[in-house]
Amino acid sequence: MQTGKVSVNTENIFPIIKKFLYTDHEIFLRELVSNAVDATNKLKVLAAKGEKVGDLKDLKITIKLDKDKKTLTVSDRGIGMTAEEIDKYINQIAFSGAEEFVEKFKDDKESANIIGHFGLGFYSSFMVADKVEIHTRSYAEGTEPAIWECQGTTDFKIKKGKRKSRGTDIILHINEDSAEFLENYRISNLLTKYCKFLPIEIEFDGKTINNTQPAWKKAPSDLKDEDYLDFYRELYPLAEDPLFWIHLNVDYPFNLTGILYFPKLKRDIDPNRNKIQLYSNQVFVTDNVEDIVPEYLMLLHGVIDSPDIPLNVSRSALQSDANVKKITGHISKKVSDKLAELFKKDRKDFEMKWNDIGIFVKYGMISDEKFYERAEKFCLLKNTEDKYFLIDDYTKAIETEQTDKEGRKIVLYTHDKERLHSYIDSAKGKGYDVLVLPDMIDQHFIQTLESKLDKVQFKRVDADTIDKLIDKGTEEKSALTEDEIGKLKEAFLNVFPNEEQYEFEAVNLTANDQFVNVIRPEWQRRMHEMQRFGGMTMFGEMKERFKVTVNTNHPLAQQFLKTENADEQAGLLRQSLNLALLGQNLLEGEALTSFVKESFERLKSN
Ligand code: ADP
Repeated sequence: MQTGKVSVNTENIFPIIKKFLYTDHEIFLRELVSNAVDATNKLKVLAAKGEKVGDLKDLKITIKLDKDKKTLTVSDRGIGMTAEEIDKYINQIAFSGAEEFVEKFKDDKESANIIGHFGLGFYSSFMVADKVEIHTRSYAEGTEPAIWECQGTTDFKIKKGKRKSRGTDIILHINEDSAEFLENYRISNLLTKYCKFLPIEIEFDGKTINNTQPAWKKAPSDLKDEDYLDFYRELYPLAEDPLFWIHLNVDYPFNLTGILYFPKLKRDIDPNRNKIQLYSNQVFVTDNVEDIVPEYLMLLHGVIDSPDIPLNVSRSALQSDANVKKITGHISKKVSDKLAELFKKDRKDFEMKWNDIGIFVKYGMISDEKFYERAEKFCLLKNTEDKYFLIDDYTKAIETEQTDKEGRKIVLYTHDKERLHSYIDSAKGKGYDVLVLPDMIDQHFIQTLESKLDKVQFKRVDADTIDKLIDKGTEEKSALTEDEIGKLKEAFLNVFPNEEQYEFEAVNLTANDQFVNVIRPEWQRRMHEMQRFGGMTMFGEMKERFKVTVNTNHPLAQQFLKTENADEQAGLLRQSLNLALLGQNLLEGEALTSFVKESFERLKSN
C-alpha cells in the first residue's frame, strides 16, 4: 500500500472547494459523469486504432444510490487507470491549476462553470462527500486493479484493488449536509439537466437518461423537418412550434455545432430569454449565454455546442475573446443568410411570417452594423394597405410624390391605422403612402433608418398639417389681414385649457381643409416618447406639447370675425378646438364631459 500527500500548492484545496463553490454543489455530478464519458470515448478511440481493449459490448455508464450506506456511485467501462496513472492524474495533475483558480475566482459566482476546466472536476466531489473512493482497472493487459481513497484532506491511500473488469467506479460517501444527493428525484433531475445529450448511454434507476445522438450532432442531410421539430419539442415541451431553424456546423477556424430555432415571437419581446442552451461536447454548461450571443440573437431558441468557448475566463474577458467574437459573427451571418434564403424562395410566405420575424430583424439592424447591411435584402416595410416593400424599393416608390423642397424623401407612417384615421385619409387624398410601424422598437428602428439612408426623413402622419407634412414650398395666401390673424390668436389663447401645453399657429390651407387641427410635431413627440419609455426622468415627467394649427382660409375664420358677442366667439373656438382634440383622441375626462354637454346646448339654440 502507498500512502502520501496530494500535492497541492495551496495549503489545502478542500476548504476552498467547499467555500467558493457552495452555490453550485450539484455540478459534481456533471463532472463525474463527464469524466466517465471521456474515459469511455478514449476507449473507443483506442479500439478504433486497433489497440486491444477488451469487449466493447456494453459501454453504459450507471449511477447508483445506496441510501443505507449513504453512497452515490458512478460506474463506467472506459479505459480505467493503473495505480501509477491515479498517482499522475489524480494526485498530481489535478491541482496544477488550483492556485491560479483560487486567485482569479475568489469573488466570481460563475466559478462553478469553470471548475471542470481547471482540472478540478474530480475533486468537486468533495463538495458533497466526506470520503471518495476510486475502484479502477485499466484496459491495458497485465495491469493490476487499484483503489484510491481520500477523506477530504490532503492525505490519500492507494492500494491494490479487486476489480475484475475494465473501468472505474467512483464512490462518494455523501456528507450530512448533502443528503439531498441521496434522493432519487434530485439525481434524476440533475442528470436530465446536465447529461440529457451526452454521447454515451447513461442509466439511472433502470432508465436511460440521455439521447446519445441529439439532432444537432447529425448531418443536416440526414434530418427531415419532422426531426427538427421533434428535437425542438424535446427541448421545450410546452412551446409552440418554431417558424424555422438553422443548423450550425463549423469546424474551422473554430468548432461549433448546434441548431437555432426561430420561435413565434409575441408582440412584446419575451422577457424570459434564457432559451439557448450552451453545451461543450454535449455536456450542458449553461442556459445563460448573454456574453456569447448578441442581445438580439437571444430571442432565438435552441442549442449551441462548442468546446472552443473558453469557460476558464471571467464573463468580461469572454466578451472580448476572439473566438467568441468569431462565433457570434458566424451565428449572426448564418441567421441573416437563412432569412435571405427564405425571402428569395417564397416572398409571399416570408411576408406572412413578417409579423413574427420583423421585430427580431429590426432589433438586429439597430444593434449590429453588419446585420443591417445583410438585412437590407429582406427587411420589409408594410403600408396601410398591407402591401410589403423592401426599404430600397419603398424609397424609390415614394420619390416622385413625397420629396420635399429640400430634396428630402419624406416617409409617412402611423403607429395605428384606426387612431390616426383622419390624418391617414388626408395623406392618401394627397396621393401619399403611409407605412404602419406599430411596435415599441419602431421608434429606434426609424432612427436607424434615418441615419443610414440618404436624405430620408420619417414623419408620423399627425406631425404636421397636410400641406407642411411634405413641404413642397407652395403655400396658399391668407384671406385674413395680419390684424385679423392677431385677433384670432388672442381669442384662441384664451380658450386653451392651459398655456404650457398648447401652441397657436396660423396656417393657410384651402377653404375645404379642416378649420382647427391638433398636431404633434415629430421631434417633440419622439422626445416625449423616449422620455416615457426610456426613463429620462431626471427632469421629471414632462407634459407633451401640442400645436393647434388654425386654417385662416376656412369659412369659420370669417364667421368668428363677424361674431360680436365675446362669449359666442369663445364658444365657437372652444367647440372647434375640442373637435380637433377629439379627432386625435386627446379629449378625455372632465374636458370630454363638458364638451358633450356644451355641444348639446349649441344644438338646442340653433
Ligand atoms: P479533467 O477531467 O478536467 O482532466 P479531473 O480532475 O476531472 O480533471 O480528472 C483528472 C484525470 O483523472 C482525468 O484527466 C483522467 O485522466 C482521470 N480520470 C478521472 N475520472 C476518470 C475515469 N472515470 N476513468 C478514467 N480516468 C479518469
